[in-house]
Amino acid sequence: MTYDDNNVFAKILRGEIPSDKVLENEHVLAFRDISQQAPTHVLVIPKGKYISFDDFAANASEAEIVAFIRAAGQVASDEGIAPSGGGAGFRIIANAGENGVQEVPHFHLHVIGGRWLGRMLKKADA
Ligand code: AMP
Repeated sequence: MTYDDNNVFAKILRGEIPSDKVLENEHVLAFRDISQQAPTHVLVIPKGKYISFDDFAANASEAEIVAFIRAAGQVASDEGIAPSGGGAGFRIIANAGENGVQEVPHFHLHVIGGRWLGRMLKKADA
């Protein structure tokens, strides 16, 4: 699979589509999901062209990976949902591929919190 330069997050990174930005640095952009599933729902994306978690894990540089993980933690802290800062907690989700129901083929984490999130998966889904 090759990276699709026309995916919506590529357009956000090029400034062709606006985003509600919460954090940006050399390697990472974080912005609010357009369809909020909870009081906090932020997407954290690498600026590099990575399709999915596995692509990022295999091919990103150590600098990109460190910056990305730190940025996700920073978003949780800034949103006041990080347990280490006294927050009530959050969940990070990375959907990948068809079975993971990944809609946008540019790797991203969902940082979700601000309410009780329930269990990760329902047994009925097994
Ligand atoms: P996923 O299923 O993990 O690929 O999730 C893609 C997410 O991107 C969904 O939660 C969408 O609501 C979100 N999304 C799609 N377009 C935009 C946009 N222009 N700005 C912010 N979030 C978006």
